[in-house]
Parts: sequence; C-alpha cells; structure tokens
Amino acid sequence: MQPSPVAAAYLVAGILFILSLSGLSHPKRAKRGNMFGIVGMCIALIAAAFGLGEGAYGWLAAALLPAVVIGAVLAIRVKMTSMPQMVAILHSFVGLAAVLVAIATHLRPENGLALTDTEIAIHKIEIFVGVCIGAITFTGSVVAFGKLQGLLSGKPLMLPARHVLNLVMIVSTVWLGWEFTQADPHRATFLLLGATAITAMLGAHLVAGIGGADMPVVVSMLNSYSGWAAAAAGFMLDNDLLIITGALVGSSGAILSYIMCRGMNRSIVNVILGGFGTEGGQVARVRVDGEPTPIDADAAVAMLKEAKRVVIVPGYGMAVAQAQHTVAKLVNLLTKRGIWVRFAIHPVAGRLPGHMNVLLAEAGVPYELVVEMDHVNDDLPDVDVVLVIGANDIVNPIAEEDPSSPIAGMPVLRVWTAGTVIVMKRGMASGYAGVDNPLFYRKNTRMLFGDAKETSDALLAGLKA
Ligand code: NDP
Repeated sequence: MQPSPVAAAYLVAGILFILSLSGLSHPKRAKRGNMFGIVGMCIALIAAAFGLGEGAYGWLAAALLPAVVIGAVLAIRVKMTSMPQMVAILHSFVGLAAVLVAIATHLRPENGLALTDTEIAIHKIEIFVGVCIGAITFTGSVVAFGKLQGLLSGKPLMLPARHVLNLVMIVSTVWLGWEFTQADPHRATFLLLGATAITAMLGAHLVAGIGGADMPVVVSMLNSYSGWAAAAAGFMLDNDLLIITGALVGSSGAILSYIMCRGMNRSIVNVILGGFGTEGGQVARVRVDGEPTPIDADAAVAMLKEAKRVVIVPGYGMAVAQAQHTVAKLVNLLTKRGIWVRFAIHPVAGRLPGHMNVLLAEAGVPYELVVEMDHVNDDLPDVDVVLVIGANDIVNPIAEEDPSSPIAGMPVLRVWTAGTVIVMKRGMASGYAGVDNPLFYRKNTRMLFGDAKETSDALLAGLKA
C-alpha cells in the first residue's frame, strides 16, 4: 500500500483495535477497550469511504444508513440472554460478505490483467479460500442461530456415515479448488459456484451435528471463522486494515475456543465431530434416591446470617431473571455483616463467554469478589453456604461421577463439598445440556423455589429486617 492519508488512518485504526482487544482482556479496562474499538471503527469507516472516491458515495450511503439504523435498533432491543443468537447471526453476515466479495472479485472484468502468472495463481487461491471460509461461516452461523433461538432442535443431527459425508465434501472442495486454479474464466465460475454450494452444505452439516452443550465452543469457533473470512476478503480487496482486523478476530476467536474447550474438558476435534451433551433432545435421566428438600426465604436468610463464608454461583437463570442488581445488594449486606463472600464463575455459565462477568460488572460488583472456577473449587469444603442462583449444568456432580453421562468430563463447580447448598430456581427443570441434576437431591442441598429475582428480593428483605 502506498503512503497516503487513508493508509495512515488504517494504521491508526489497526493500532486502536489492538488496544481495544488488550483493554477487553480485563474487566477494569473493558470500557476503555470498547471506546478504542468504537473510535477505531469510526476512523476505519471514514477512511474506507474516502478511499472509494466520489462516485461511490451514493452507493455507500444507500448501504450504510439502513445498516446503521437496523444494527442500532437490534443492539438496543436485544436481551442479554439473546446475545449468543445475535452474535451468531452477525457472524453469518461476515461469512456472506466474504462469499460475495470473492465471487465479485472473480467476475470483475479487469480480473487478472497486468498480473504475473504467480500473482494470478495467488489471487485465484485467495478467491477460492475466501468463498470456502465464507460459505462455511455463513451457513454454520445460520444453523447456530437457529439452534440458539430454538427454531431448530438443539439435538445433534446424526446422519448415518456423517463423517464420510464430511470427508467427501472436503475432498470434492479440494478437487474443485485445484481445477479452479487451472480453468478458463467461464469454467472457473461454475467450479467456484460448485465449491460455494458444497462448503455451504459442509458448514450447515458441521454445526447441525454438534450437540447443545457444545454450543459455547461453536459460537466462539464461528467468531474465529468470521475473522478469517474477513481477512480473506481483505486479501481480495487489497485492504490491509481488513486483513489486520480479520486476523485479530480470527486468532482471538481461536484462543477463546481453546479456553472454552479447556473449561469443558473437550478437544476441538471432539467438538467438531459432534454429538455431546444431549440424548436425542430428551432429558438424560439420572437415578436418584430421595426427594429434594425445599426451604423458604426465611430459613435461607437464617442460614446466611449464621454463615462465616458464603460463595455465590450465578448461572443462566440469574440472567433470565435479571437478578444481578439485587444479588449485588445482597452481597453488600453480607459483607457489612463481616461475612466473607465470593462469586464463583464457571467458564461456560450462562449463554455467552463471559456472560456472568458482564452481568456482575453491570451490577457494580467489585472485581476482587469474582473468582474463576479453578481458583475456588479447592476452597469450597471450607465454605458454610453456597447460593446457586439459576445455575444447573455447571454444578452437576454427574459430570464427575458417571462416565456414561452426556456431560461426563466437563469440569464443574463442586458446590456439594460445602456445608449447605441453597439452589434458587423455579422448579426441577434440567439445564441447557438436558441432564438431570442429582445435586438437588443431596442431603446438604436445600431448594429455594421461585424466580431468581423474587427469591433474591426476599433474601434481601430478610437480611435487612
Ligand atoms: P443451565 O442452562 O444449566 O441452567 C439454568 C437453570 O436456570 C435452569 O435449570 C432453570 O431451571 C433455571 N432458571 C431459568 N430461568 C430462571 C429464573 N427466572 N429464575 C430462576 N431460575 C431460572 O445454566 P448454567 O449457567 O448452569 O450452564 C450453562 C449451560 O449453557 C451449559 O450447559 C453451557 O454449555 C451452555 N451454553 C453456554 C454458552 C456460553 O457461552 N456460556 C453458550 C451456549 C450454551 P428452572 O426452569 O427450573 O427454573
């Protein structure tokens, strides 16, 4: 790229994106990180618009203005609990954009002019790779959106010989790619469209074959794919900023996928091969002895007042009930009484990576009270009361105790090792993975039934009294 104001603006935007990512790696700096990202994106948009030249402004405005309005309305309206769907559908747009850019680049009449043979070959590979990554990202994200939104069944699609099917699709794509680099422009167009169709099917099939409990990893994997799709588009458009941004998103998504896999004790290959966490969409029944022991809010308050050490485990139900502000006040009161309180965070709690951290930060909970799973499990035997607020899968002992369980091997918070566990949920329903939870029947477990906001309000009122 020649030195120019646009190139300088791209450089500044690229630096701001890197600062943004570094800021987002810690809750204290996250707001500043977000600001860097917003400013970087504004600079990038303005620079890209200038780079297009006057003739394109009308087209750009026609595309940009409705997009800005639709994006803003969706972002304002979306509930925190629906964020994974929103993220998935946004990834699909990046994939679709990469496919369209690749096809348009191929069809451009001046395509190939003034390029050496090697440059033409590289250009063709860029186009082909862009189409493949883009199509996989597009259809994979649409299927992920359907599953998370409940439009498609969360159970894995287990076609007979599905691995062979995937292999056939991969081999045919590689063959089409080889032919594409050799073919004349007319035939190359058909080969490219063929590869688009096959990789689109592959993306949909790969995600359809993944079970409910693996969806966190799928969302972060698609995040990574969308980054690589954007980077591929950057190569085709010769846009350095798109390459930098795509690489940042692609690699950070890959790192996040690795962290999520570690949090669930799964390997990426294992996740991609699919099927984890659901049994034909049914709840996986577990043999349990005894009955759950219900308590009311007054009894729970009495236990909390007696306790010296309390751990709170928030889960998806706390997000649904929007109980985080009440819970933050509850913690304030407990701390004022001299009680040691910590939040224990599981890496896949809720429905979004970092979901609980975001909610607690929003409620103003001090960061030093928020502890990750690995740092809290060993301390739980010394804890008097654990409050499990709308969490289920992440505290299910079956993951450790039954190797045949659909969630076997997933690390969980060992809350049952504490003195007493108070589980706050509405009924006996299973969690996202569709597995019964024997924790609810343990001798030291008490069930405080009700919507998490209402029961948290009742605990708060009891502690104030
Ligand atoms: P779970 O989905 O396991 O359980 C949530 C529990 O909350 C349910 O059993 C439900 O029981 C209860 N609940 C729902 N609404 C309310 C309410 N208003 N008040 C009180 N309780 C309520 O959540 P966890 O956080 O424990 O685990 C997360 C699960 O989601 C894992 O399986 C994870 O793999 C998966 N997942 C995570 C993603 C991520 O990125 N973090 C993304 C996609 C999936 P009841 O109806 O009886 O009240």
